Amino acid sequence: MMTVRDLRKRFGDTEVIKGVDLDIHEGEVVVVIGPSGSGKSTLIRCLNNLEPATSGEIVLTGARSSRESMARLREEVGMVFQDYTLFPHLSILRNMTLAPMKLRGLSRADAEAQAMKLLERVGLAHKAQAFPGELSGGQQQRVAIVRALAMQPRLMLFDEPTSALDPETVNEVLLVMKELAAEGMTMVVVTHEMGFAREVADRVIVFDGGQIVECAPPAQLFAAPREARTQQFLAHVL
Ligand code: ADP
Ligand code: MG
Repeated sequence: MMTVRDLRKRFGDTEVIKGVDLDIHEGEVVVVIGPSGSGKSTLIRCLNNLEPATSGEIVLTGARSSRESMARLREEVGMVFQDYTLFPHLSILRNMTLAPMKLRGLSRADAEAQAMKLLERVGLAHKAQAFPGELSGGQQQRVAIVRALAMQPRLMLFDEPTSALDPETVNEVLLVMKELAAEGMTMVVVTHEMGFAREVADRVIVFDGGQIVECAPPAQLFAAPREARTQQFLAHVL
């Protein structure tokens, strides 16, 4: 689905991503864990070109050139952030229809029909006319997920989607993500939810100091981490 080669990102003199190689296969769920400040958000923002990489290559399968690939990244890669980033002044329905109408050229009627279907799927059709501020954090985050799905992405990126939520709403968001994974969506998920990683991930990447420290299936990684930095990190979170 996506090939990443020697990806580097610097802010001024500081190199934050120090040469990442990664292949993301179709239908795969890759969970990224690692300490705060290690560059996880920067990595994931580079993957959909929200943050331009300083050097290296990100190629979406099927693109004929790296240039075409970069243009398609934004359109074909959906993203959900930690702080639910719905437009506060727009209704849930308008939040859902804005990008499909603007970027995909859907008519309002088609965009609204699609939006209502997606909202139904996460049990929030009755909130279509509400504003984001009237929803709980978990509800807003469920909208953020289906809003990204409205663009029919091939790959979904999640950056700590449950970290800002009240504990009692974390599971409703994880459940939507689990369903998405079960349907075969290709996903890269930065999270501290080790239960999710264990249950859903095909591979877990341990990220530290701007580099991939270790990458393994969850059962293997949690039971027998090879690297000292992985062991240290897991000792903190497990
Ligand atoms: P993580 O998500 O793992 O906590 P980040 O990717 O947010 O890590 O940050 C990695 C490092 O890059 C941090 O030292 C952070 O201060 C720095 N950084 C992130 N974004 C910027 C930016 N826009 N300008 C300068 N430094 C940044
Ligand atoms: Mg982060």
